[in-house]
Amino acid sequence: MKIAMIGTGYVGLVSGVCFSDFGHDVVCVDKDPGKIDRLNRGEIPIFEPGLDRLLDKNVEAGRLSFTLDLAPALDGADAVFIAVGTPTRRGDGHADLSYVMAAAEEIAKTATGHIVIVTKSTVPVGTNRKVAETVRAANPDLDFDVASNPEFLREGAAIDDFMRPDRVVVGVETDRAAEVMSGIYRPLYLRDAPIVTTDLESAEMIKYAANAFLATKITFINEIAALCEKVGADVKEVSRGMGLDNRIGNKFLHAGPGYGGSCFPKDTKALARIGQEHAAPISLIETVIKVNEDVKRRMIEKLSELCGGSFNGKRIAVLGVTFKPNTDDMRDAPSLTIVPALVGGGAEVRVVDPQGKSEGERLLPGVTWHDDPYAAAEGSDLLVILTEWNEFRALDLGEIRGRMATARLADLRNIYSARDAADAGFETYVSIGRPDHA
Ligand code: NAD
Repeated sequence: MKIAMIGTGYVGLVSGVCFSDFGHDVVCVDKDPGKIDRLNRGEIPIFEPGLDRLLDKNVEAGRLSFTLDLAPALDGADAVFIAVGTPTRRGDGHADLSYVMAAAEEIAKTATGHIVIVTKSTVPVGTNRKVAETVRAANPDLDFDVASNPEFLREGAAIDDFMRPDRVVVGVETDRAAEVMSGIYRPLYLRDAPIVTTDLESAEMIKYAANAFLATKITFINEIAALCEKVGADVKEVSRGMGLDNRIGNKFLHAGPGYGGSCFPKDTKALARIGQEHAAPISLIETVIKVNEDVKRRMIEKLSELCGGSFNGKRIAVLGVTFKPNTDDMRDAPSLTIVPALVGGGAEVRVVDPQGKSEGERLLPGVTWHDDPYAAAEGSDLLVILTEWNEFRALDLGEIRGRMATARLADLRNIYSARDAADAGFETYVSIGRPDHA
């Protein structure tokens, strides 16, 4: 089959590459000439493990190409996927649909033969019908169907998630669209991946409900962690004890500095907004959004206490600024709240991140960047672990401690223990929801 993919971000690029690996002919389109230039040179504009190899393989096989021009991509295409951003609209929390609608209009003006217009971007309930209206208004003669196909991949494990998904969700209202979608996902049918074929509204809702549920789970354990600190319990033990219950499961039960990233913050806000607009407010999610902000604030208070109530004049080493390991994505990362509070409080902040530097340099002014945790720790009064990259999980804590001016460790991802820190000579160790003493 022939597929056009609009948007070569984390979702569009991974989906385009994986569809070409299924054997389809895929043309990826983006408005950003820098991205298309790099892709045409065989460079990947994002960090996603394994993507470079798969991209090269399918470009060489002649099934995958990149262009700024929509017309050749749509020529003879069975389906066009919209995988553009849907960030939070300034001011009201609603998803900004301007990129999706602009793409829909461009498709309407460019497509010729029958085509299925598939929305892969995360969009509020009703958006696929609006896409159809927009297309119809811009080109009443175009023969098309719409389909909703929200994406569930996780950055950092995106290829595996796409190739071996827990499920694929497809919302359609015509047999013709259903047929094209089942042709596109045929390799996954053959691998017995569950395919949920449903109506447009349910497909749109599944994505928001799933993300809001996961954000709630993280927020739940973060609040339990705060209580654990008060009562002397260990949240890691609590998570383990809870997670072994099959009805609960152990995923997304790790206490930390608050959820972030390109999806949970914006999708929870958008869902809350959809609820308000339909006079069915989801107060649970409204609370989750608020609590997550409180969690980040609590981290700043924790660090301030460690520094004797003021960051002024302190040298602080921060390990990790991306919102999670194995990505270069900094969107809504907790570091974007925490690091500016340190800098604003008068600290000298020294940062290390295996992939976060290029975005981080723009988003975190006033910090200095270092190549490794040992260099960053030099002369520091506090070491803060903010993102649990593998590189930070097996540090020589004794060596780090030896380089620091004052031996304080704030482990906001619970990757070490009070015993590890004490053995390495740290005087102070704090983590999330666990006793501070060995
Ligand atoms: P992104 O910002 O990384 O990429 C969007 C791309 O679309 C950009 O390269 C931009 O230049 C391009 N674009 C915008 N308008 C265009 C147009 N008219 N024509 C051609 N290109 C255009 O976004 P992303 O992280 O890939 O997210 C895309 C959608 O997928 C969002 O709705 C997001 O919520 C959803 N999603 C993201 C993830 C994730 O982990 N990032 C996971 C699941 C779902």
